[in-house]
Amino acid sequence: MMKLYYDLHIHSCLSLCAEDDMTPSNIANMSAVAGLSLIAVSDHQSALNCPAILPACKRAGILALPGMELCTREEVHVLCLFEELDGAIKCSDYVRNRLIQPKKKAAIQIRQTIMDCFDNPIGEETAYLGAAADIGIYEVSMLINSFGGVAIPAHIDRSSYSLLTNLAFYDPEMNFHAIEITKDCDKEKLILEHPELAGMRFIQNSDAHSLEAISDPIHYIEVDDVQPRSILRAITGKN
Ligand SMILES: [Zn+2]
Ligand SMILES: [Zn+2]
Repeated sequence: MMKLYYDLHIHSCLSLCAEDDMTPSNIANMSAVAGLSLIAVSDHQSALNCPAILPACKRAGILALPGMELCTREEVHVLCLFEELDGAIKCSDYVRNRLIQPKKKAAIQIRQTIMDCFDNPIGEETAYLGAAADIGIYEVSMLINSFGGVAIPAHIDRSSYSLLTNLAFYDPEMNFHAIEITKDCDKEKLILEHPELAGMRFIQNSDAHSLEAISDPIHYIEVDDVQPRSILRAITGKN
């Protein structure tokens, strides 16, 4: 068994709320310097920077999974982690077509930058990724599975865009196997308040929007090998 210190929820410059220096190489290098061995960049509603993140991480000598942070119709954030880049990109395209775009175009210029693995800008996403997708919370798990990924309700103890805040409870019929809690969450207290969460796997990530917010090597999973499938299994406890 080996320990993989992870941070599986990091935003790149494709996310409106992330700082401009959250570029593929910067994220990969900072994560390596921090002592992490596994990361995922999970931008809002898009995996389009993952084709750059994966080789940048390889160069930096760390593992990376393709990721995305989905925002459902109920405005619940769900962390999605994929076995393969291909599945992540197909899922990203699917989600883009389900975005509930605002009727009026935003007056402010939005910058959602797609980069290559050397931090050269190669495009701008023109769809507004701050929008929710017309995908319901009960559909998410199966949908992400169909693209070779796993869905994990994000920062569920947070007071905004979270499962427990927006829907008040977790229903096992939503069929999630792992839950993300914020880094300061008291897990025991949370389970006392929400006994329906007992027995779930919990992960804790930084949700970093700046380089200095990327996690220190604190949280880890144990794996037999570093195949993406094995890593996802270790996270969810499910085959
Ligand atoms: Zn979020
Ligand atoms: Zn996030």
